[in-house]
Amino acid sequence: MHYISTRGQSKNYSAKKAIIKGLAEDGGLFVPAFLPPINLQLSFNHQQSISYASQAALILKSFLTDFSEADLNSACQKAYGEKFDQEAIVPINFLDKETAVLELWHGPTLAFKDLALQLMPRLLSFALQEEEENYELLILVATSGDTGKAALEGFADVPGISIFVFFPHAGVSEIQRLQMVTQRGQNVGVCAVLGNFDDAQSGVKQIFSDRQLNKNLQKNKFRLSSANSINWGRLVPQIVYYFTGYEQMAAAGKISPGDPILICVPTGNFGNILAAYYAQRCGLPVAKLICASNRNKVLTDFIRQGVYDRRREFYRTESPSMDILISSNLERLLFELSGRNPALVCEWIKDLETQGWYCLPDEKISYLQSYFYGGFADRQETFQAIRDTFNYHGYLLDPHTAVGYHVLRQYREETGDSTPALLAATASPFKFNVAVLEALGRETKGKDEFSLLAELSALSGKPVPLKLAELQTLPEIHKDVCRREEMAAVIWRFLKKVRPG
Ligand SMILES: *Cc1c(COP(=O)(O)O)cnc(C)c1O
Repeated sequence: MHYISTRGQSKNYSAKKAIIKGLAEDGGLFVPAFLPPINLQLSFNHQQSISYASQAALILKSFLTDFSEADLNSACQKAYGEKFDQEAIVPINFLDKETAVLELWHGPTLAFKDLALQLMPRLLSFALQEEEENYELLILVATSGDTGKAALEGFADVPGISIFVFFPHAGVSEIQRLQMVTQRGQNVGVCAVLGNFDDAQSGVKQIFSDRQLNKNLQKNKFRLSSANSINWGRLVPQIVYYFTGYEQMAAAGKISPGDPILICVPTGNFGNILAAYYAQRCGLPVAKLICASNRNKVLTDFIRQGVYDRRREFYRTESPSMDILISSNLERLLFELSGRNPALVCEWIKDLETQGWYCLPDEKISYLQSYFYGGFADRQETFQAIRDTFNYHGYLLDPHTAVGYHVLRQYREETGDSTPALLAATASPFKFNVAVLEALGRETKGKDEFSLLAELSALSGKPVPLKLAELQTLPEIHKDVCRREEMAAVIWRFLKKVRPG
């Protein structure tokens, strides 16, 4: 299997090279040359005895053909093991007989990004072993919260790679700060930057484009890279759990093998739902993909009207990981919509860049709507979804998943379709305790994070996840704070530490 660019002006690469490069030379995204059929029957027969890790290795083999079976197995076993607090890795939980919640938040940072970021660094590490030149990667991340911690957990102690994360001193929650500054690992560094997220991000961008710095790094056999969500190595692991979710629904007797299901995904950058679309194209029986947005509903409008228009106000919502106006992974869907015609993709992307919007022709809109339904939830509807699932089903949703639940309900009311659904739950409710408690009518002002966690635990009867509870006692390892113009110097100091002499 080789990888091609959505914009058609790049060389083709193996999976290993595509994962190392991240982005194609023409600015496009790497996609597999074809979508391989994945044999469900095979997985069903093994369903009793096979672990998530082995299942993942089997499915990934179809996409990552230049990785040896032994390497894939080793990477998957290490990624999907004791770091997760459930043996099933992604267990399902039925709200009612038609609605299964696929819990994607049992990893070390309590959000679904762990499923990709626990595996991708290990794939990258194997890929680097085949490079002709011998060098180490330095992953640089500027984070507004969640991605930074998930990347730290994923890259910690992975051979051949170091990671450094900058976060805004005044721009993350206390839980998020503690998650990062307590991170262990020989190859990790973390530093707060005075200022907001934009300061941290522009500082990192400047380091990437600093010629002198990059030359010095190269002399020392280091290369800079990012852990960006458009990397194929981050997308491909996400295809797996839609298959295992389907199998669990079948194992529970709610569907028979071969029956179609709905898949509903709360969406921001369009990565997670794109993986569901690929699963469908590879053979998973899916009747409809339901794309759920918050008040930043650029994707709802796109699916309903065929017009992608980013010229609109940006809202901060209670589901912050979905506050996005340019969904970068959408380009991979455009490639399929165009009939794999890069010239057409380039036209749309150019329109987006020059005029801020583009419009699909009618037959492409029909294709889009045959696969996808789009909807959104505002703050009130999100809070109502949290209240309803708690009151009627005794189950707590985080605000991102609640957006998904609302849109699923809306779809069912609008269409009368009662096909069983799999709802992707992207974060633990404990991670977004303030919004969840507010939705349930509790006062949160003036209370610290740990008393909020305790309150949510008492209310739900569920223990505080260990990974959050332990933050109260773990030592703070990374205490540095720097100014924006000191970031490059901080990196040099870090490199001296990871490779003395
Ligand atoms: C990143 C994230 C999302 C959005 O996922 P995309 O792949 O960007 O669509 C949704 N919910 C949570 C909790 C997230 O962290």
